[in-house]
Amino acid sequence: MKKVHSHFPISGIIYLISALFLLQIACKTSPSETEKNDTKKEAQTAEKKADKKLLVVATTSMIGDAIKNVAGEEVEIVSLMGAGVDPHLYKATPRDVRMLQNADMIFYNGLYLEAKLEEVLEKLAKKKTVVAVGEAIPEERKIKLGGEEGKEYDPHIWFDVENWVYVVEKITSAMKEEDDKKAATYEKNGAAYVEQLKQLHETTKQSFQAIPKERRILITAHDAFEYFGRAYDIEVKGLQGISTAAEFGLKDVQEMVDLISDKKIKAVFVESSVSSKGMEAVIEGCKKRGHNVVNGGSLYSDAMGEVGTKEGTYIGMVEHNVKRIIEALGDD
Ligand SMILES: [Zn+2]
Repeated sequence: MKKVHSHFPISGIIYLISALFLLQIACKTSPSETEKNDTKKEAQTAEKKADKKLLVVATTSMIGDAIKNVAGEEVEIVSLMGAGVDPHLYKATPRDVRMLQNADMIFYNGLYLEAKLEEVLEKLAKKKTVVAVGEAIPEERKIKLGGEEGKEYDPHIWFDVENWVYVVEKITSAMKEEDDKKAATYEKNGAAYVEQLKQLHETTKQSFQAIPKERRILITAHDAFEYFGRAYDIEVKGLQGISTAAEFGLKDVQEMVDLISDKKIKAVFVESSVSSKGMEAVIEGCKKRGHNVVNGGSLYSDAMGEVGTKEGTYIGMVEHNVKRIIEALGDD
């Protein structure tokens, strides 16, 4: 997409006018006054440089939102992946590469979520501050893939709100270190946001306890909700595996149909960043077996909602998901 920088011509004209104006002053004034002007200009440039906001780049919008809550207006924040974007499959665009190169700091999830970006991020880490926020999660809180022997971790750390607290604290300490003049602001903002997250965690826990345990089964398009399930005592099952890069097969659909029909599960869910085709096949399959399962609606899994909406924030996305799930699986 072509971005139009409409301010360029205007600022060009302003620049030209001020250049002419300065030239005129320079011609009229004595050399000492010109020198004074130059010194003043230099001082202004230095001030401007000191005022220049840090460019902080995040891969996912969830991380971008966490940075926003810690750093607010103090820095310029760019999230590479917008609404509906699947991080497992995401490849850097030329614009992203430019952004990453120009960034003062970069934050990414890690744990192999951004599979196709990891190499370039590791290279950039030699030149600037690059933080994999997933590393902030204590070992015992991370979910291992392939059982205890596994060497890889489930990267969907954000759906245990308590995990996200570690991420926000990591971002806060990294910001303080990079930009120590504003350390007090980052500290204050970070602490206030952590309080909000702790409250969100408590209300989420309480909300699910209102649903009988046997109904707390969450069927989604891919395995993004393991942390969510563990934190809020919900059984979770994804049609696709941990990454959306692996296709689901007919066998997966059949197994899902059997499970839903046998357990008389009321609703299944699609995800905003994953195709709904697989889930539609499951719903169709259940109908043929005589069990009417409904589409419980769309959950935000690996991407948040549109910027500027409530669901375009981390807290808003969690609240949306909780509401959807409770409405679909709760009382008849
Ligand atoms: Zn995922």
